[in-house]
Amino acid sequence: MLERFIKYVKINTTSKFGKNGKPNNNGQKKLASVIVKELKSLKLDKVYFDKKHCFVYGLLKGDNNLPKLGFISHLDTSNDRFSKDVKVNIIENYDGNDIILNDKVVIKTNKYPDVKEKKGKTIITSDGNNLLGADNKAGICEIISMLEYFCNNNCKHGDIYVCFNSNEELGIGSEYLNKKYFSPDIVFCVDGNALGDLSYENLNSALAEIKINGIMSHYGYAKDIMINASYIACLLNSMLPNETPMNTDGLEGFYHLKKIKGDISRCNLEYLISDFDIGKFEAKKKKLTSVISKLNNKYKGCINYKINDLYYNVKDIILKKKDIIDKTIDIIESTGVYVKIVPNRGCTDGPGITNKGITCFTIGTGVHNYHSLYEYVCLEDMEMVSKILIELVKKW
Ligand SMILES: [Zn+2]
Repeated sequence: MLERFIKYVKINTTSKFGKNGKPNNNGQKKLASVIVKELKSLKLDKVYFDKKHCFVYGLLKGDNNLPKLGFISHLDTSNDRFSKDVKVNIIENYDGNDIILNDKVVIKTNKYPDVKEKKGKTIITSDGNNLLGADNKAGICEIISMLEYFCNNNCKHGDIYVCFNSNEELGIGSEYLNKKYFSPDIVFCVDGNALGDLSYENLNSALAEIKINGIMSHYGYAKDIMINASYIACLLNSMLPNETPMNTDGLEGFYHLKKIKGDISRCNLEYLISDFDIGKFEAKKKKLTSVISKLNNKYKGCINYKINDLYYNVKDIILKKKDIIDKTIDIIESTGVYVKIVPNRGCTDGPGITNKGITCFTIGTGVHNYHSLYEYVCLEDMEMVSKILIELVKKW
């Protein structure tokens, strides 16, 4: 598991849009090719690499009378920070104290108390200069370990579908999922979160793209002439409620200022607007629209914007299948791991797949502090997640 994980994190798969506006998949294609080779060496019944969209599919055939299970994990890593030239830091028999990655980055136990629970185990981090990328290379390793088990052991199982997809971090990870190659009855999206976490409720989210066009003039003679686009951007942000990812948690929604770039003549902003409750989600979009309209009235219509819905909460769809939830929890807990139902505040594949008509749960990979330099994963948790995946296949 460790060897494979290190091999994967050494390949930079940061997801980003290229100059043509399409995702640049070059790094992800490298990792995909490595995975294709591994799947072929396992002698799966089918392996298919959709090079155009950078999706790898695999199928291990089983008993037709048993449910068909699917497992999916994304190839890319967050573009919040590069995962280039990752130097892996392995701490065996962790002593339970602060983990110093470098003189600036320290995983402090008082700030990240979960890490203390890993005392005596093996912790993996980066050297604090780049993202480790365990989100979601841990998930890929866990799925492939599960596959290895069924390829090497003669035990009864239904068809096992796997998919390693691209660009989840851009919010389009399930868009190109092809049901011709991936058609299980239930899918487990192995992504993010701690060991034992299970999600089936996600945020409704929309992306607001805002362009402010200013009017330049010399600052000494700017009265009643200048419209400072960056200043108006600051005003706009200050007129929104103080509900941001920095001060919300659990089922609370937020306005997330993702990007801001500007000067006097123009300023562009991007907000992710999210809420678990559809009514509150609509109200948040309305609030942003009314703030923009007030500013447009005052500053000569200088703001253009568009708001596009990205995805919706699939809780109501999943709750109709309560028996599937209960059985999944029972199987996971039979391994001795306590299941914690957590609202999914980030992963976009699970809801995307459910919206495509296949029930999908997101289950934790054992990764903590993802999308940050403080990211870490516990090796024993990864092994346990793989065991959970094996039990899911055996007992469904
Ligand atoms: Zn992820």
